[in-house]
Amino acid sequence: MKDKLLRRISLWVAFIVAISIAVNGQQTQPQNAPSVERLRAHIEYLASDKLEGRRTGSPGANAAAEYIAREFSRYGLRRSIGYDTAGMSILEADSPNRYLQKFPYVAGVELGKNNSLTVTLTSANVPETQGSLKTQTTEVFQVGEDWLPLGLSAQGTVKDTPAILVGYGLSVSELKYDDYANANVAGKVAIAFSGTPDGDNPHGQFARYEDVRWKATAAHAAGAKALVVIVSESNFSDDRLARLHYDNSAGDAGIPVIAISRQAAAKLLAADSSVLAEMEQRLRLQKPHVDEDPAARPPRYLVQVSLSTDVVRREVEAANVVGILDGSDPVLKKEVIVIGAHYDHLGRGGEGSLAPKEGDIHHGADDNASGTAGVLELARFFRSQKLRPRRTIVFIAFSGEEEGLLGSNYYVNHPIVPLADTVTMINMDMIGRTKDNKLIVGGVGTAPEWRQVMAAANAPERIRVAVAPASPGDMPRPITSSATGREVPIVTGSNGSPVVSVSFEKSFDLTLNEDGFGPSDHSSFYVKQVPVLFFWTGTHEDYHKPSDTADKINYADEVRILNLVTRVVYDIDTTDKRPAYTVAKSDSTGRATGFRVYLGTIPNYADSNDGLLLDGVREDSPAAKAGIKAGDRIVKLAGRDVHNVYDYTYALGEMKAGQEYEVQLMRGGERLTLKLTPAARK
Ligand SMILES: [Zn+2]
Repeated sequence: MKDKLLRRISLWVAFIVAISIAVNGQQTQPQNAPSVERLRAHIEYLASDKLEGRRTGSPGANAAAEYIAREFSRYGLRRSIGYDTAGMSILEADSPNRYLQKFPYVAGVELGKNNSLTVTLTSANVPETQGSLKTQTTEVFQVGEDWLPLGLSAQGTVKDTPAILVGYGLSVSELKYDDYANANVAGKVAIAFSGTPDGDNPHGQFARYEDVRWKATAAHAAGAKALVVIVSESNFSDDRLARLHYDNSAGDAGIPVIAISRQAAAKLLAADSSVLAEMEQRLRLQKPHVDEDPAARPPRYLVQVSLSTDVVRREVEAANVVGILDGSDPVLKKEVIVIGAHYDHLGRGGEGSLAPKEGDIHHGADDNASGTAGVLELARFFRSQKLRPRRTIVFIAFSGEEEGLLGSNYYVNHPIVPLADTVTMINMDMIGRTKDNKLIVGGVGTAPEWRQVMAAANAPERIRVAVAPASPGDMPRPITSSATGREVPIVTGSNGSPVVSVSFEKSFDLTLNEDGFGPSDHSSFYVKQVPVLFFWTGTHEDYHKPSDTADKINYADEVRILNLVTRVVYDIDTTDKRPAYTVAKSDSTGRATGFRVYLGTIPNYADSNDGLLLDGVREDSPAAKAGIKAGDRIVKLAGRDVHNVYDYTYALGEMKAGQEYEVQLMRGGERLTLKLTPAARK
């Protein structure tokens, strides 16, 4: 640093302070700083009816991706193409839109051609001597009218297989309830009523076993060849099971699972519909009904089922949008700061929605048009600065977040720049609803530097001096602000004239959370040992509802959040040493799932077929003590086969704290059996 330069800087400081106080008494902002008007334009577009809620894989989400890519292109960000060195993703060279990183996604499921259901009833218990009176009837049921395979159904065929009624088809040991206790269903087709013994009571003890997944899991575990679920609505097409739906994070149930109309079920059970209702009622009254033995009652008919299920998964491409701003430093440009936010939302409701009904557009202005607009504004800001950050910044708008962090999960497994060179990931998810000046920052335990960085960035008064080095390699050093006594970082630039900015911006009332895990995309990076910071303004009454609209965004405070993030980025960038990844203490023992036990595993929700893949294991948790590691695939837990996250959750629900259980897992190609003792959930 040259003396002459320093004098020039102090003159500039004095000049700018004088101007800002004398002229308008307001803060000065660097050129092209994030603005209310631009944020509003982005959010109003992304959250408009036209984009129909941006459900991953939908035309609305694709339109949003194109919009973001166009903006990236307008700012002059580099396309990710060109980073196709070994082990990294190669983005489509011939695509009109090379900012897109596409990943496979099941957008929906449709009926295939091979769906059939035939039922044969043979009268049973007719004395041999009257054999000639033995009757047999065959019913062919129409797919779409009488029955429908469920989205979670495996493709499969069963032929002339005996079927038995298994009540609600639930097996819940924590409630000492087991419809399979005395029903030998192995090798047979299980027939179950939908719902639970609690009826429709959302607060009943069975409420969390309401999902048909539980029945499928129980039937599969009991060795059933297929599961037939009797719907509850008398008009089949009114029932929610009579709609095909697919859950990307769970995979299929392992056996054919179908829903059947009450009219068809009555024929299947050789009963009329009033008898059917009676049976259901009786089941409800007799809970728990472990002692009932349906097999002990002689059936009047032998029911045999022939069934084929054919559900076609409609795979579409979903896309992250990735834009690159190359660093200005010849050495440090190899290192990357990722600034990301998801742009997908819930479409017209359904899975993940908290709206009472499906069909209305979920605008997702706060969740997460606000964060997406933030990424755009930060991209524009950093790209427009003459003094570029020394490190490379990769801006990413993720998709598939609402379906289980699918886009960020794909990115960390197909990174544009190796994750080892990714020094920080900054995630913004829901930053548009600042209230009472409060801002939550997660991940501060993931690097020892974060608390200090946040405190400095949030200081009420600050000065930023950016000076170009006299010659390449002559790095400017930090100077000390006379106002705060704190070291002020100096940003390296490419042009000769010094740039000084002074601001007196109000501080946020920060809540700092240690944990690097959380229900958003930074989790995917933290799992890969990248230090993370997660900015959000908290939940609200419009969360995951159609009413999360653009008019409710606090634009002025979002600008302040983006300015804060800018300072965080500059602080990281002006320090030669990259933030050190640290394992953070977790703030809680996990999400409130209602389970009584705690293991400390972090499941990978995007990949959970053939066992439950673990992204990580919390420190000092029961899982860690058992010797379970990131990358392990749990295949059996507490005596239950684990094919996916649902089986796993099911097993978890049956475990007791302090009791030792066996867990089997695949590590490398090896199958290991470990002993695991769950802790009580606080
Ligand atoms: Zn959300």
